Amino acid sequence: MLEAGAPGAALLGLLGLLVGSFLNVVIHRLPKMMELRWAAECADLHGDEKAAPATAQAAPFNLMVPRSRCPHCGHEIRWFENIPVFSYLALRGKCSQCAAPISLRYPAVELTSAALFAWCGWQWGLGWEALAWCGFSAAVLALACIDWDTTLLPDDITLPLLWAGLCAAALRLTDTALPDALWGAVAGYLSLWLVYWAFKLVTGKEGMGYGDFKLFAAFGAWFGWQALIPVILMASVIGAVIGIAIKLKGELRDGGYVPFGPFLALAGLTSMIFGPTAILAAIGL
Ligand SMILES: [Zn+2]
Repeated sequence: MLEAGAPGAALLGLLGLLVGSFLNVVIHRLPKMMELRWAAECADLHGDEKAAPATAQAAPFNLMVPRSRCPHCGHEIRWFENIPVFSYLALRGKCSQCAAPISLRYPAVELTSAALFAWCGWQWGLGWEALAWCGFSAAVLALACIDWDTTLLPDDITLPLLWAGLCAAALRLTDTALPDALWGAVAGYLSLWLVYWAFKLVTGKEGMGYGDFKLFAAFGAWFGWQALIPVILMASVIGAVIGIAIKLKGELRDGGYVPFGPFLALAGLTSMIFGPTAILAAIGL
């Protein structure tokens, strides 16, 4: 293992750029892949003869195929137009074919991923510990963006993140003792499940989704049960502030729903960087 500091930060920062580029694909395609899967399952359940073969014969759509295209003109993105951040700058944020603007989201995700990975390299050096937290960062970043876009937190990411947290504790890659991680996962899930049902019984509305319970359970596994209260407090405070800001600007979506996952994710990443106790101190507890 290399010493912590600049070399680890530089190398993992570069890796973070590449992973960020892949996260953009995941954020964009995973919700569509889930939709296709649901459509196929529904058609199957209804015994829909017409829909079933259509979904079976549809062109493959996954994280690898088809190649990325400009959503505006269909221009196939070539490898040199797909270099994280640099291509965006070289193209001045526009498609080389039709000059349609490329979303600032792409370089933003790549830079955020690079910054998080670099921080892990700085903190832990080049080793399994740093890689474990890089994996955590990547998964949480992808979840935040997908939930913001679609109000979904895919099981394909939340459940492996939960298991990975338990494994990381067992392998001593985190500072969390295995029993703390295990009870963290249990308490994380159950606490939000209880809040969900209490809220639903009182107001008749759904305040959050099952994905939130699973993400919170994953944080319990990574940080231990002791971190659950600081993380949920921070997520709630940020969520309330931003929710009110969106409401005042009149930009609420249909149903007045603000996804909770992005704020939970932000609290989780803050907890990774500063530690759960620092959050409590910042709130004044
Ligand atoms: Zn184009």
